[in-house]
Amino acid sequence: MKGNVHPYSARTCQEETCCTMKSRQLASSAPFMDEKLPRPLTSFNSQGIDSVNTWSNLKAALRDRVSSQVYAAWIAQIRASESSQGELVLALPDRFAVDWVRDHYRDVIAECLREIDPKLSFKVVLDPDPQPKPPETGLETRPKVQPEVPSSQPARVEPTPSAPPDAEFSINEKYTFDAFVVGDSNKLAAAAAKSVAENPGSAYNPLFVFGRVGLGKTHLIQAIANTVRRRNPHSVVRYQTTEKFVNDVVQGIRFERMNDLRATYRHCDVLLIDDIQFIAGKEACQAEFFHTFNALHQSGKQVVVTSDKLPHEIPDLEERVRSRFIWGLIVDLQPPELETRMAIVKKKADVDGIELPDEVAMFIAQSVRSNVRELEGCLIRVSAYAQLSGRQLTIELARSVLRDVLPGKGQLTLDAIMKTTCKFFDVRVSDLKGSKRARAIAQPRQVAMYLCRKHAGASYPEIGKAFGGKDHTTALNAYNRIRDRIEQEHELKRQVELIENNLVE
Ligand code: ADP
Ligand code: MG
Repeated sequence: MKGNVHPYSARTCQEETCCTMKSRQLASSAPFMDEKLPRPLTSFNSQGIDSVNTWSNLKAALRDRVSSQVYAAWIAQIRASESSQGELVLALPDRFAVDWVRDHYRDVIAECLREIDPKLSFKVVLDPDPQPKPPETGLETRPKVQPEVPSSQPARVEPTPSAPPDAEFSINEKYTFDAFVVGDSNKLAAAAAKSVAENPGSAYNPLFVFGRVGLGKTHLIQAIANTVRRRNPHSVVRYQTTEKFVNDVVQGIRFERMNDLRATYRHCDVLLIDDIQFIAGKEACQAEFFHTFNALHQSGKQVVVTSDKLPHEIPDLEERVRSRFIWGLIVDLQPPELETRMAIVKKKADVDGIELPDEVAMFIAQSVRSNVRELEGCLIRVSAYAQLSGRQLTIELARSVLRDVLPGKGQLTLDAIMKTTCKFFDVRVSDLKGSKRARAIAQPRQVAMYLCRKHAGASYPEIGKAFGGKDHTTALNAYNRIRDRIEQEHELKRQVELIENNLVE
């Protein structure tokens, strides 16, 4: 085939001729026309045609004729304009997309256009100026149509209302690496995810992120999407829940649209599949995933999956799929330790503009140990309650609000704390309540007071009273002293943590 000069960019174009056709001449291809930059659609009146409506009518017609995946993946990214010959020019952002649309949807486009305007011809061309898609539209990063019309550029047609994906599949812009608090429990996973985001296809492939519910898998995988997209707006990033992937495969089989599905899933630079454990027992989906994975991996594209089970724990998983998961790197997210939970609560409060006293942050971080989503939920509940009731956000308020949501944990009694502390230090409760100042007694007493404040959220007067009628300043000093000492003294910190573990378990 002879090379042609691309009408928009003076680039050599091999195949535009094949994309140019009259809507009433489905099979024939019109000769390639060397032409000037097309005029915007808004000025498309040379043939008395309301061209803006033509394109939106065409899109509406296409929506009824193709699946929503096909629409979102191919049709929605088309930028339409008018050529100097009065043709409809449909521009796609890359060569693959041009070929794909031309090979697969040319006829359906022609048929739909014929119904709208039988005289109008169209052609499918490579877009010389593809636009990055803004983050909030999610799903995948593809060049996008824009409303502004630069004088020397093809018209930008407004994004179709159907283009944005369903909310559940969109990528949350707030899930970034900056917003992800790193601690011992998650530092390997965070580092691996970052490395993949910075060098997709070359760092760890696939990356398998494992973690129980609410520990940040979706946050991390979407942080990869956001980072890749920011660093390279032209790369195609496809984030999908496994549930959606399964639905797509089921629909693809049912309506014989597997080719579309394959083109969609295999045409991306980074494929991110969330909660892959849901693929368990679904043979056709596993087979499709296997081939998709191979196709992407072979062409150096990045695959990342998350799961709440390790590969060997996922039931009914084909061996060949399991083996793909362990080709790359498996990283896990463990429940965050106290400091990390505290940092998460504080960060969240900062982001949401909540003024959160340290001791309330600590109380919340102490109350929820194994699920960051719950941790955030508690913060929101406490702050909403304070705001709505016009009360100050104090530890007493937090304790009373969380008592309903955290049965058992909010009801930790001062007696129970004293007993656990005594057991650990091998002293008697009566010693704590007494007034002996020997270090062997004074330290357990102070630790117990500290824990009563922290875990039971008791006020200082309450604590003083429970410890044999002492003054509230004794409780306050004990709390401050232990809080400061555990910052400095590793051994004391370890002891307190051991007691804390026993308080909860
Ligand atoms: P999963 O997908 O593992 O169930 P998510 O990614 O949905 O969990 O995380 C639940 C919530 O907790 C999200 O709002 C997320 O932003 C937050 N989160 C989890 N881990 C962290 C972390 N280390 N730093 C900040 N926020 C976190
Ligand atoms: Mg998730």
